[in-house]
Amino acid sequence: MSRSRCLTVLALLCVSLIGEALVAADPVFRAGAAVADITPQKWPVDLVGNFFPRPATKAWDPLSARALVLDNSVTKIAFVVVDSCFCGRSLFDEAKKRASALTGIPADHMLMSATHTHSAPRVKDRFDWKADPEYVEHVTRGIVSALQQASENLLPAEIGFGVAMLPEEVFNRRWFMKSAAGTMPPTPFGETTDQVRMNPPRGRKVLDRPAGPTDPEICFFSVKTPEGRPLALMANYSLHYVGGVPAGGVSADYFGEFAKQIEMRLFPVLRDGTESNIVIGQREEPLRDTLPPFVGILSNGTSGDINNISFLEPRPGAKPFEQIRNVASRVADRVTESLAKVEYKKWVPLGMTQTEMTVKVRRPTKFQLAQSRKLIVEKDDSKLPHSFSRVYAGWAIGLHEHPGTEDILLQAIRIGDVGVTSIPCETFVEIGLRLKMDTPFQHTFTIELANGHYGYLPTPDQHRLGGYETWLGSGSLEEEASPKIEDELLKMLGSLK
Ligand SMILES: [Zn+2]
Repeated sequence: MSRSRCLTVLALLCVSLIGEALVAADPVFRAGAAVADITPQKWPVDLVGNFFPRPATKAWDPLSARALVLDNSVTKIAFVVVDSCFCGRSLFDEAKKRASALTGIPADHMLMSATHTHSAPRVKDRFDWKADPEYVEHVTRGIVSALQQASENLLPAEIGFGVAMLPEEVFNRRWFMKSAAGTMPPTPFGETTDQVRMNPPRGRKVLDRPAGPTDPEICFFSVKTPEGRPLALMANYSLHYVGGVPAGGVSADYFGEFAKQIEMRLFPVLRDGTESNIVIGQREEPLRDTLPPFVGILSNGTSGDINNISFLEPRPGAKPFEQIRNVASRVADRVTESLAKVEYKKWVPLGMTQTEMTVKVRRPTKFQLAQSRKLIVEKDDSKLPHSFSRVYAGWAIGLHEHPGTEDILLQAIRIGDVGVTSIPCETFVEIGLRLKMDTPFQHTFTIELANGHYGYLPTPDQHRLGGYETWLGSGSLEEEASPKIEDELLKMLGSLK
């Protein structure tokens, strides 16, 4: 090595050592959050989350991408939660690549997920259902812009974690039926193997018992300035979505409403319409300060088998958006009450690890494939065993022709004493509960529909019970996938501890 090269290396070494010494001596914790609008700009759009086309020509409320960046001077982690039913891996990968180039945050330190609103446009192709590439690009840009802005908004901050309970809005939607309910309907392929029914007829006369548990927890991180001004709050609740959105428009469902409600709780507006002051530390500050706007975020927990329908005691019908507002304000109320008990830390360790796991896809049985080839060309609806038969026939043929494996992304994050895991499926609640139980951290929660989408992820036991979520095509991953995913995530959490 030449003398000058040697000196350069020495100088670089010194700079990096001084740099590390500075970090170690005075590590600063910072947080930044931002929102970008991803409401469609061109109408009509085709809404996802249903078996038949549903066009929309307007927005009942805006769709957003909400980003939160945490930086403890050693590690940076970014979350983006998108108002979409589900996003494919390619969309998120592209957004991560672009956002990483702009922010310097490594793509494998970004967790991106969909909320699971059922009233957003499709952004992922699924066999014969195609997404509009222009809207896919609009969403991709929105994610990148939210993340870039959040990164620019980084400010010295404190972080706290809390858990609130809201058991009365979560219901397991898979039920064993009493014989009074008659016989179990056939699957779309015409099989009579289901032992449980999703979204069954309601009431004690016909319902025996739910086929699984619920998770009543709302977990949340709250970040504020050292003076006490709230910067962002990201919550996680294991509820599919609420619904009750009138036809013809897009909506962020209760996820968007929560973001609004939690902001109203933290920055109350007076009855006469003027804005109140907020108490920061010992003094009152006007609401409109020079800090970036507060961002509320609600991510989707493990809710593949959980919805908001009270099956045993049916509730009276609600007006459009009424139940969305009810549930969102209950979640916001419980979080606000729990905020009082949150202990904020000036600095916390951050860690994130990511694994790409190869998982086999499910294949149709000989019977299912033969049935599918017959049903897909059947013109007479009265000859179909189920109104979804043609759709499932298409999916079964697609899975028959599939290369055979999917490479799925799993992530584990450490924020202080709390673990966060991510799964790219509509994940059954049992899976999230096991991760909460077996985590090496004080507390852990899971964000589902993250970094891609592969349909439902039931447990092997739930696969044996049958029902909608287990039908071939409702999910594409092998029936034994969930314990493998749980074990891998627990190993990853262990490596961060
Ligand atoms: Zn769904």
